[in-house]
Amino acid sequence: MNNILIAGGGFAGVWAALVARRSAIDLNRDLSITLVNRENYLTLRPRLYEPDPQRFRVPLRPILETVDITFIEDMITTVNTSRQQATLATETGGLPYDRLILATGSQLAPPPVPGIETAFNLDSWTAAMEFDSHLSRTMPALKAPVIAIIGGGFTGIEIAMEMRGRIAAASDMATAQAARILLIDRASVVGAELGDNPRPYIEAALAEADIETRLGVSIDAVDKSGLSLSDGTRIDADIVLLASGMRANPLTEKIAAPCDELGRLMVDPDLRVAGFDNVFATGDVAHAETDDAGHTALMSCQHAMTMGRYAGYNAAHDIFGLPTTPYRQERYVTCLDLGSAGAMFTSGWDRVIDKTGMEAKKLKQNINSNIIYPPTGTREDILAAATLIPGHHKTSQRT
Ligand SMILES: Cc1cc2nc3c(=O)[nH]c(=O)nc-3n(C[C@H](O)[C@H](O)[C@H](O)COP(=O)(O)OP(=O)(O)OC[C@H]3O[C@@H](n4cnc5c(N)ncnc54)[C@H](O)[C@@H]3O)c2cc1C
Repeated sequence: MNNILIAGGGFAGVWAALVARRSAIDLNRDLSITLVNRENYLTLRPRLYEPDPQRFRVPLRPILETVDITFIEDMITTVNTSRQQATLATETGGLPYDRLILATGSQLAPPPVPGIETAFNLDSWTAAMEFDSHLSRTMPALKAPVIAIIGGGFTGIEIAMEMRGRIAAASDMATAQAARILLIDRASVVGAELGDNPRPYIEAALAEADIETRLGVSIDAVDKSGLSLSDGTRIDADIVLLASGMRANPLTEKIAAPCDELGRLMVDPDLRVAGFDNVFATGDVAHAETDDAGHTALMSCQHAMTMGRYAGYNAAHDIFGLPTTPYRQERYVTCLDLGSAGAMFTSGWDRVIDKTGMEAKKLKQNINSNIIYPPTGTREDILAAATLIPGHHKTSQRT
């Protein structure tokens, strides 16, 4: 039987698997689909700045096995594209494939400075749990904690704005109000990657929340009691949290194809890796054009979910010699959580502000507690959701 192997069970990998299954059913063809992920969970990474991170992962096996997708909990260590097989960490012998979909996502790319490994981060479920338990352990003993956040981009802003709430939950309101929270970035502005339009609103929200910014400086060194900056200043901090950039998962390096500066594989409009007919890349490991205006997919859940659908659809159609559909995602929005100040929702690549305050917060809550979750339920429920273009299927509120 023809088979598709999917490496990675995040947003892109899971949607690729489900849409590949639905495509095979619609085409009335037999297709074996296997998904390998290093743990039996899809981690809801966009939620990891929120309190109680233990809630933010969804078991994979029940979803996948309900629609006859084989799930293997393991790590893919290498890919041999000429033999068309992948190697697992815990088994000898290779896993053969007719089509491979690489969806192993991204990981934090820490700046190469001494002591950076002592900083906390929110990149993975385990890291978010460590940060959460450190807060619970340390905050009650402190009167005026200092939290230094490295990275004033999307994630840094969200955690900075959430921080007093997190401290209050771990200790009390007085401690949260007395806390000093710093947002540090080497760029001269906050949210540099979000462009100029939303910046005044973000700056006002940070000022209102009494978040100090240290801009235009980089980190020289980090240690357990703070950090040193390139301008010669020292910040004594109880917690240093790293929220700077991401890089594609290193499995991409096993494929001898061109990559961009983030380590993402260059793909054609079908999401096929340049020069490798049987290999597709999707989500955070793929550098793909979203439209004819020259926009490129970002390392975002928004793009990963849609790219995953296209990769699954195209791999399944390609395997049977049927026409594929070029990836297109012209609509682009952002929704930035601003803690107790609500949120900010923008539309388009110029990020024109559409909604703010509690109106935008409701949208953010819907995205985080509903839209980004994979479908669960019966075989019919899951397959109904697994269309190339998302339909208007019903999903239940999860939190
Ligand atoms: C704190 C934080 C906040 C974020 N906020 C937002 C937001 O507000 N909006 C937004 O759109 N995006 C946000 N993102 C980005 C978003 O989470 C990612 O873009 C998205 O998760 C990418 O999906 P993916 O499926 O490509 O990869 P991932 O979600 O990273 O999934 C990859 C999967 O592959 C597995 N894997 C990796 N290597 C192997 C291997 N060798 N073998 C087997 N399995 C492997 C991993 O364990 C993981 O399960 C945020 C990310 C973080 C960390």
